[in-house]
Amino acid sequence: MENVIIIGTGCAGYTSAIYTGRANLRPLVLAGTQPGGQLTTTTEVENFPGFPEGVQGPELMMKMMAQAQKFGARFEYETVTSITKDVDDGGFTVVTDTRTHRAKAVIVATGASPRHLGLPNEQQLIGHGLTSCATCDGAFYRDVPVCVIGGGDSACEEATFLTRFASKVYLIHRRDELRASKIMAERALANPKIEPVWNSTIIEYVTDAAGEMTQVRLQNLLTGEESSLDLKCVFVAIGHVPNTAFLGGLAGLDENGYILHHKGMMTNVDGLFAAGDVADHVWRQAITAAGQGCAAAIEVERYLADVWGE
Ligand code: NAP
Repeated sequence: MENVIIIGTGCAGYTSAIYTGRANLRPLVLAGTQPGGQLTTTTEVENFPGFPEGVQGPELMMKMMAQAQKFGARFEYETVTSITKDVDDGGFTVVTDTRTHRAKAVIVATGASPRHLGLPNEQQLIGHGLTSCATCDGAFYRDVPVCVIGGGDSACEEATFLTRFASKVYLIHRRDELRASKIMAERALANPKIEPVWNSTIIEYVTDAAGEMTQVRLQNLLTGEESSLDLKCVFVAIGHVPNTAFLGGLAGLDENGYILHHKGMMTNVDGLFAAGDVADHVWRQAITAAGQGCAAAIEVERYLADVWGE
């Protein structure tokens, strides 16, 4: 039986792995389908302490992983499909797409995935003119118009990044005021290539015969008036949904699906801890996720000592 399984490899998972590794617990880390988490889909991270000149998101994550490996963390690229608490010994059974593991404690650090608008042909359009990752796909859209939907830091960051490639970036927001931090909003709105489209939402994606995005139909939410914009790609940046489906109701969730902490980083299930964006709808920063990962690891150490005599 493993001492601790860490599910997820964003800032929270890697930090838990560094701390439990250094505590000689030989953590097993299940990396899932997006190793490195959300920061691998971003460019420059300017606000992670210790990097006054900024650091590239993927580079930061690779360094965290190397640091965890240095202290004995083991990584498997498996996706967890279910997890149950075993009544006989109080451990956990963690089932993945390839095998079954057992562990005395589990840290869930599975983060959150991009939210979509829920329009009928949206899922088919992913990779055909619809994406949630400007860093990954922006370079495919050189000298053509694109749009970003959303009004938060992600939308502003993506819009600003996309001006490197696109001929024009429409920033479509459902209100007339951005939610983004002042610095990021000002940077985006000052960019001559970015044209804000206020009080509007996309009501239809229009494609060509090959199924590639060619146009969006918009509705002004104040007047009801409809219009259209010709463009080649929609970058959806309207927030995230926490990744908790595999828990199957094991841990308590809030009304938006985020895992609830019961005591410290522990959930309402003894031995099951949660850290980072999967349990945080408030701060959602790389550094706060790392902080929660650290706290969860320290609590796992204490839990293993108290309950399992490790
Ligand atoms: P967010 O702050 O939750 O913003 C989501 C945006 O999408 C909001 O403007 C929201 O509109 C809009 N939205 C939500 N559902 C929508 C829908 N169904 N239709 C249309 N619009 C919709 O999410 P985020 O921008 O991804 O940021 C998440 C967290 O990460 C934040 O804490 C942010 O500060 C942080 N972040 C930081 C950086 C950085 O510092 N480099 C970069 C990216 C993100 P309303 O405003 O009307 O609610």
